[in-house]
Amino acid sequence: MNYICYDCSTRYLLESNKWKCDCGGLLGLEYEKEAVDFSKTSISRNHSLWKYIDALPFEKDDVWQEITLGEGDTPLIKLSENLYAKADFYMPTLSFKDRGAVLLIAMAKKLGFDRVIADSSGNAGTAIAAYGARAGIQCDIFVPDSTSVKKVKQIEAHGAVIHKIPGSREDTAKAAITMVEKTNSFYASHIYNPIFWEGTKTYVYEIFEKLNEKMPDAFIIPVGNGTLLMGAYIAFEELMASGQIAKMPKILAVQAETCAPIMQAYAEGEETVRPIESSGTLAEGIAIAAPARGTEILQAIRASSGDIIGVSEESIINARKELALKGIYVELTSAANYAGYLQYLDKYPELKEQQVVFPLCGAGIKSN
Ligand SMILES: *Cc1c(COP(=O)(O)O)cnc(C)c1O
Ligand SMILES: [Zn+2]
Repeated sequence: MNYICYDCSTRYLLESNKWKCDCGGLLGLEYEKEAVDFSKTSISRNHSLWKYIDALPFEKDDVWQEITLGEGDTPLIKLSENLYAKADFYMPTLSFKDRGAVLLIAMAKKLGFDRVIADSSGNAGTAIAAYGARAGIQCDIFVPDSTSVKKVKQIEAHGAVIHKIPGSREDTAKAAITMVEKTNSFYASHIYNPIFWEGTKTYVYEIFEKLNEKMPDAFIIPVGNGTLLMGAYIAFEELMASGQIAKMPKILAVQAETCAPIMQAYAEGEETVRPIESSGTLAEGIAIAAPARGTEILQAIRASSGDIIGVSEESIINARKELALKGIYVELTSAANYAGYLQYLDKYPELKEQQVVFPLCGAGIKSN
């Protein structure tokens, strides 16, 4: 198993503790994986992501599989004839980030680290802190000083050292990277470390499994740094390669209109994403003005014949209210997904006849 540079194809052992290529390029992951046997996983009594071990970057007998908090197998709620909501706020730390965090922390444990560093707008840091605590690994979590008080408390409760950084989300990342480089720690980054996507890909596995091995036509996916999107795309590619699906579903991506660098690049036909000046958004979890993985995200959207739109602040607030009146209470960031679905329905009325899944990514009590 190796990290491999997207730009120059240099390979690095996982033990090298690289998070970026010497050429500056970003790393992907290269390893032999087997196809998931969904007839087996669908009846497994293992309530964790480790039931998909055949398709994960670990050996079958790895003891770090004990690093679980019962994540995964979240409900798929049927809202109308063709519309499903995947309730990932049922996760142990109340967001989908647990999918990536359990794998990333298991890898840090396997490699022998007792201290890791991460930066986040809140939910990824919370997930890393919780799984770090589970694994007996000390965490240093960097967050923007504007992060919700509730998220900061949740991180601190798990015993992580919190570093509140003034300025933008990008300033927070810079501060974390400075500490990583100074201390040569494991960078438990949901953005730079491709092992995180190996966890988020299970979002798609679970949906495919629950729908009796039928793939929905389209996935509404929020995009900040694109960790759910990249995970979903990896799962689609795997299932195509194994012949388990014949056609790739569409990725219908959603950004907040006031912070939409990827949407902008897509609309302009660009292949790379230029950072933007953001005027801020209520959807703090997707407020990423300079996404590191922009090129890969654009490729994935295009390869799936998908699309990307921006939703207004007002529509996010309304979508949150509407969902709550259906009995579903999500954080503001997560309401953007439903707002996105409604906007896509206007843009593509034929979606009404197609099977669509949107994620409930984070619990309502996480934000104000
Ligand atoms: C992290 C997060 C997102 C966005 O995910 P990215 O990986 O940054 O694209 C969306 N919603 C919630 C609730 C999140 O925690
Ligand atoms: Zn390189």
